[in-house]
Amino acid sequence: MRLLLVEDTDDLAQSVLRFLRADGHAVDHAMDMATAAAAMAVADYACVILDLGLPDGSGLDLLRACRRAGDRTPVLIATARDQISDRIAGLDAGADDYVVKPFDLNELSARIRAHARRGQGLPETRVAVGELEVDRAAARIWKDRTDIRLTSREWAVFDALLGARGRVLSKSALEEVLGSFDAAIEGNAVEVYISRLRSKLGSAVIETRRGLGYVLP
Ligand code: CA
Repeated sequence: MRLLLVEDTDDLAQSVLRFLRADGHAVDHAMDMATAAAAMAVADYACVILDLGLPDGSGLDLLRACRRAGDRTPVLIATARDQISDRIAGLDAGADDYVVKPFDLNELSARIRAHARRGQGLPETRVAVGELEVDRAAARIWKDRTDIRLTSREWAVFDALLGARGRVLSKSALEEVLGSFDAAIEGNAVEVYISRLRSKLGSAVIETRRGLGYVLP
């Protein structure tokens, strides 16, 4: 899933980024409100993790502005343990949930998956894709009851297609998913990952729409 982490404490941000990327998410990082607002204006995030105390203002203002503009992206606010009033204000401002600092990263990841699925209208964690069984919460896939191992990048591409199921994702949309893992990606990276997924999952699982992109039918 493509996520946005809005956090100005760099060492905390780096540990969260490492964990979520290893967990198969494509994560962008903003250190202030202006950067976060610009990122949200151009990218379609499955979930935003929002710190409240930011150098250019309160994350709550960003959240209120998004909700006023009709943006329903799931938002998890990050608050310190003793700031209960922040949590209440955050939920009132339209946050979907909150996580308490310091993060329990496994819990953060589980909550992100739950809210992102709800945001995509897919609350169930287990879904069938052709003859595959997919557990989005656990990031696992079975084919004929055999566990198929995907790398975190392969999973990120597959999960993006699954989240958009039935809709064509362009090559550049999938490049963005891969691009948040690495600063630079090869020009043919999307084709490489699609081909790896087809060889692991079956050639018919992902369809190519020539000139448009790829779709999980
Ligand atoms: Ca902060």
